[in-house]
Amino acid sequence: MKVEEKIRYIAEHNGLEKALDKLAEECAEYAAARIKHNLGEDNGEYLEELADVFIMRAEVQLLMPEEMKCQISEEINRKLDRQIERIQDEISERNKI
Ligand SMILES: [Mg+2]
Repeated sequence: MKVEEKIRYIAEHNGLEKALDKLAEECAEYAAARIKHNLGEDNGEYLEELADVFIMRAEVQLLMPEEMKCQISEEINRKLDRQIERIQDEISERNKI
């Protein structure tokens, strides 16, 4: 099986609600591992946890209904615009000095 096929197989077995819960769990594990890394207390486990996050993100993306995908796309677009605006403000503030 290819990676995409494995993800689809597992996602369809678990369903959206379980995948959303697992994504939250994996995000928490990644956050804890990354904090340990920043404190110099890890053995590279944050990469393993990041891989778990990516897998669960792929599962959720596969399972989401169209309406949810549209809502997420709008949120992503709004957040990206806001972040670009912040960067541009920061650049113009820097150029004033
Ligand atoms: Mg994990």
